[in-house]
Amino acid sequence: MDVAAQWAGGALTIDLGAIAANYRQLTRTLTQNGAKTLCAAAIKADAYGLGASRVAPVLEQAGCRHFFVAHLSEGAALRSIISRDIPIFVLHGPPPGTSEDLLEAGLTPVLNSPEQLEEWQTLARKRERRLPAAIQLDSGMARFGLTAETITALADNPDSYAGIDPMLVMSHLACADTPESPANIAQLEAFRRLSALLPEAPRSLSASSGIFLGPDWHFDLVRPGAALYGISPTPGQPNPMTPVVRLQARVIQTRTIPEGQSVGYGALFTAHRPTRVALLGIGYGDGFHRSTSNRGRAVLPSHPDVHLPIIGRVSMDSLAIDITDLGEIPVPPGTSLDLIGPHNTLEDAADAAATIGYEILTDLGGRYHRSYVSYQPA
Ligand SMILES: *Cc1c(COP(=O)(O)O)cnc(C)c1O
Repeated sequence: MDVAAQWAGGALTIDLGAIAANYRQLTRTLTQNGAKTLCAAAIKADAYGLGASRVAPVLEQAGCRHFFVAHLSEGAALRSIISRDIPIFVLHGPPPGTSEDLLEAGLTPVLNSPEQLEEWQTLARKRERRLPAAIQLDSGMARFGLTAETITALADNPDSYAGIDPMLVMSHLACADTPESPANIAQLEAFRRLSALLPEAPRSLSASSGIFLGPDWHFDLVRPGAALYGISPTPGQPNPMTPVVRLQARVIQTRTIPEGQSVGYGALFTAHRPTRVALLGIGYGDGFHRSTSNRGRAVLPSHPDVHLPIIGRVSMDSLAIDITDLGEIPVPPGTSLDLIGPHNTLEDAADAAATIGYEILTDLGGRYHRSYVSYQPA
């Protein structure tokens, strides 16, 4: 932690080299046995809260040649950051009446519905040329994409996709993080069947977890986000990815409270022994979830085996930690504790908050002091 980090309540360190390493690791997995699957990157929601303007160039340098965002606004912000010839796909497609804007912004829509298809075709007629787009089909998740009925109906008419230059035919898996779910095979089969009725184009089905279902799920291109950012794509098993995020906070003050004394709003925690309490200056105002009240833990990096539970309610700007089990080890003001780190992982933090790593990252607030471990291209 550098000095400026002390001015903030918490310090977030984002390891860009780890993101590049994760990208290369996925690429190796995908090209085993001579396969040619390409690895795109999902950088929606500001690269899952980590800062798309810092993350995207690193991924481009690592070899990524396809990017996905959710919104037109996210794509427009990214267009000047990555090379012009690299497509940025807008997952939600053009909002009604914005096709011209999307095209002018140098973005490629994912067309999800007959209305979006029609809107893009109208613009193609006006411009008197074919316009690039990805076409999404719904293979069973009932979220985005053309339905089986629509695709079957459109398949009868050779002009159904006139004006579209199909860059990608894609779908998305609902249960990829649960390998034993029969939904995975069902969606795989639906994707094969329905994509054969769409214009010829490279095919893409899987995001992070789908990559780990095996080569049948890889097709021509995969679209990981989570795994790049160190979120485990294989919940319940060891995380194959390199951690990217470390969250630290410094102790503001400590006190020893007697047995029977309660701590914090709502007196949610009551000491059952004389208890040494340390206050940290982060809270739900930093996106540190209030659901971790009386759950979750911190770690003193020099003593990673000592459990330091969060006690009482997480306040807006602070939370309390029980440091009793550190015994005689001094914890002066300014001591840095890990809330997410090598010994308490993102998955641990997510479990404590009754959520998933994705939500922990996307909720990381703007108040933390952010530092990036820079990426040295090999
Ligand atoms: C978010 C998203 C991804 C990336 O998913 P991860 O699980 O983070 O790898 C890929 N494709 C679509 C359609 C998405 O919405």
